[in-house]
Amino acid sequence: MLDSFPHELSGGMRQRVSIALALALQPRLIVFDEPTTALDVIVQGAVIKTIKDLQAEKSFTAILISHDLGVVLDATGRVMVMYAGRIVEDQPSKELLRGPHHPYTEALLGCYADPRADEIHLGGIAGSPPDLSLPQAGCSFAPRCSLAEDICREVDPELTALGSGTVACHVRARESNAETKVRP
Ligand code: SF4
Repeated sequence: MLDSFPHELSGGMRQRVSIALALALQPRLIVFDEPTTALDVIVQGAVIKTIKDLQAEKSFTAILISHDLGVVLDATGRVMVMYAGRIVEDQPSKELLRGPHHPYTEALLGCYADPRADEIHLGGIAGSPPDLSLPQAGCSFAPRCSLAEDICREVDPELTALGSGTVACHVRARESNAETKVRP
């Protein structure tokens, strides 16, 4: 394919060329920014497998940035979920799938349908992300959060340790503290 022009390659082939270029200098860290965008699911799977195989073979660190939480959970060992430009949750991928802590992460996972279910229910997240050009007060997710309380609209929650990760949520941090106090 060396003599081919880019427009003669498929989307998946172009992504593989990009990955080969990124690997040429044998970096210790590669940031993959939306590597599967605009690819169909079969090619998506092939590109992610290529990245994972190469990572195992060449031992580089990979940071994957994606809007597709399914791809991220499949491809990574640890996930940081961002909302309005801030990290709101951080967990090992398997634990995040089993038990998300932040309401935004829960809502994101609720947007995926279970194809094995008798009835398919497609969820969504009502509302829109905030306009970041305007000053923000309190938690950025509050206008869309079903758990929001008065404190959420006034005080920006800080990242707090929870389980094997962290979460930026007043309610979940309080629940976790209450649980810790109850434990013997
Ligand atoms: S801090 Fe409040 S508004 Fe923000 S995610 Fe947690 S419960 Fe919802």
